[in-house]
Amino acid sequence: MRNFTPRCVLRRFARVATRSEFLIYGANTDVGKTVVSAALCHFAATLGRPVTYVKPVQTGEDTDAAALKRHVPEGQLKTVTLFHYPSPESPASAAEKAGMKPPEDTEFRAAVVQTLARARQDSTEGISVVETAGGPLSPGPNHTFQADIYAPLGLPCVLVGDPKLGGISSTICAYEALKARNQPPHVILFLDLGDFAHSNAVAVRRALHGHGATVLALPGALPPPQEPLTAWLATKEVAEAMKEVMPEDRTVESYLTIDQQHLWHPYTSMVQPTRVWPVRSAQGCRLHLEDGRRLVDGMASWWCAIHGYNVPELNAAATRQLAQMSHVMFGGLTHRPATQLAELLVKAAPEGLTKVFLCDSGSVSVEVAIKMSLQYWAMKGQPSKTRLATVQCGYHGDTFGAMAVCDPIRGMHSLFQGTLAKQLFAEPPVLCADWSGKAPENDGFSSMEDLLRTHHTSLAAVIIEPVVQGAGGVRIYHPDYLRKLRRLCDELDVLLIFDEIATGFGRTGKLFAAEWAQVVPDIMCIGKALTGGYCTLGATLATQKVGHGVSGDGTQPLMHGPTFMGNPLACSIAAASIQLLLSSPWESRVKKIEEQLRRELSPLVAYPEVKDVRALGAIGVVELHAPPKEPQKLQAAFVEQGVWLRPFGQTIYTMPPFVISDDELGEICAAIRKVLDSGIQLAD
Ligand SMILES: *Cc1c(COP(=O)(O)O)cnc(C)c1O
Repeated sequence: MRNFTPRCVLRRFARVATRSEFLIYGANTDVGKTVVSAALCHFAATLGRPVTYVKPVQTGEDTDAAALKRHVPEGQLKTVTLFHYPSPESPASAAEKAGMKPPEDTEFRAAVVQTLARARQDSTEGISVVETAGGPLSPGPNHTFQADIYAPLGLPCVLVGDPKLGGISSTICAYEALKARNQPPHVILFLDLGDFAHSNAVAVRRALHGHGATVLALPGALPPPQEPLTAWLATKEVAEAMKEVMPEDRTVESYLTIDQQHLWHPYTSMVQPTRVWPVRSAQGCRLHLEDGRRLVDGMASWWCAIHGYNVPELNAAATRQLAQMSHVMFGGLTHRPATQLAELLVKAAPEGLTKVFLCDSGSVSVEVAIKMSLQYWAMKGQPSKTRLATVQCGYHGDTFGAMAVCDPIRGMHSLFQGTLAKQLFAEPPVLCADWSGKAPENDGFSSMEDLLRTHHTSLAAVIIEPVVQGAGGVRIYHPDYLRKLRRLCDELDVLLIFDEIATGFGRTGKLFAAEWAQVVPDIMCIGKALTGGYCTLGATLATQKVGHGVSGDGTQPLMHGPTFMGNPLACSIAAASIQLLLSSPWESRVKKIEEQLRRELSPLVAYPEVKDVRALGAIGVVELHAPPKEPQKLQAAFVEQGVWLRPFGQTIYTMPPFVISDDELGEICAAIRKVLDSGIQLAD
């Protein structure tokens, strides 16, 4: 069998991505959008694929749909016109003249999405061509720019260039308008409809060199307007151009095969991998699957994508930084992105955490935290303080130092117990998600107190996820526990590490979960939402006491230095993400999510399968009495309901992007209820 290098796999991925829905924009009116739509429909028909042509807004008596029918073989083309206003002028004034109430943007988009979904239902092999009206910045029927109406749909765009004098500028303006909305066209086509078609194409190609768009001038004069295009459509040149629009017609199945043969997914077997869903793109709070379904994202890609997907501010930060430098080594060099991020982190973090170690991921930040705490005591002349204490049900990552402090019994690393460092485990904190009254009598702290009082002379640090234990069951506990822990660590001379990798950046309703207890750890690990879910980055923050302690007499280095330490690209995105978060009403958003989660999930506690329902910040949990018998089926059932949730063990949980709408969050909660209703066998 051939071996694939990762790059080779990536290239194949890019090539096999099937596009089956297209949005056709014109740089101006009368540049040939309908002809290009016809060419695309015709080409797809010659491949034997059923074609749906959608004209969302039509003005004038004659419809483009009728024109299309003359050019594409009967039986293979379905045409749909959604909003039709007979007066031949701009859609907004035509709607007004017709005395018709124009659709709201959401209603408009829903109509398009429904049409596309129906087409997909009819045939998975089909292609749909959506023709816009006018240019990207031409207003739609309710005055919203076309580009703004369609952008949230995330459809691949084709731009028909302006072949007339002045067409270079109008074409590039149209391109820029689409690019600004994260919708850059992958192909720009000029039809031979004006004297400047060819020279405009050459100029636009030169101007957009390196932007990733293919610019083509279609040769061959078009027949006069009233004559059929049939002969022209059948030319080789047109077919070649349409191949650029609809590259490599490989099915998604073929890339799934590569996936199955060569790729590991998280926590899966190479021999019996669990099902994966191919995703094409993501926008806002929706994941766009290759088959066209758009799932509401209830996972924020494992706590990360707090701003949703395809975020203009983060895209801008990434592209700005790419144009400067993607990476340089951090040994002996420094740069603005790293220093700007450090400044923001120190300001945002609990007071006193002023020393920042930038690293690759959450797990690595935990490794660094452990290394710091051991070195701290070695430099203090107490080299016997080498062990760590923690609580059961914790999760701190998959690397070896981190695995040793994950739950040793219920956790996922029991296979390695023999090789892992032997750390000390207290009973887990007692579950408590209602903090309104007095702190609970029994919060589980006595077990921790016994452990620390017995072993403190050999202990370097305690590591704990503050307030919420994430992967160990999304267990919420009372912040009082952390206050007691801070006091005891101070009394017994043990460092305190907070693992805020999951809880950081607003997830629990405070910027960092430590704030609920109003305590400051000696060391804090962050990751996950640090870059808003754009790329991997972690950081270990320490107080001056620890930072200086680790350095001994001042000369002792901290022997850690990942190759990609302080990666400028990741740092710029992280800085932009933190600025975006802090300038947004994140606190009220998270509060509102918490209220809705409590309101809509709490009735589920009445189900016999459900053991507990709890929420904190933008985290909602429905815990079952036992792990579902067939977790795979449960996962698939959520996809059927149109939401992306990944139940884990016996918990069904959601931690959506903070920008999720009430309706979208409602869909997530409703899906959980429906799946419980559906009688999926959850337990014996
Ligand atoms: C995810 C997570 C980690 C590990 O982070 P990675 O980036 O996956 O290495 C560590 N601790 C907690 C609490 C986490 O949620």
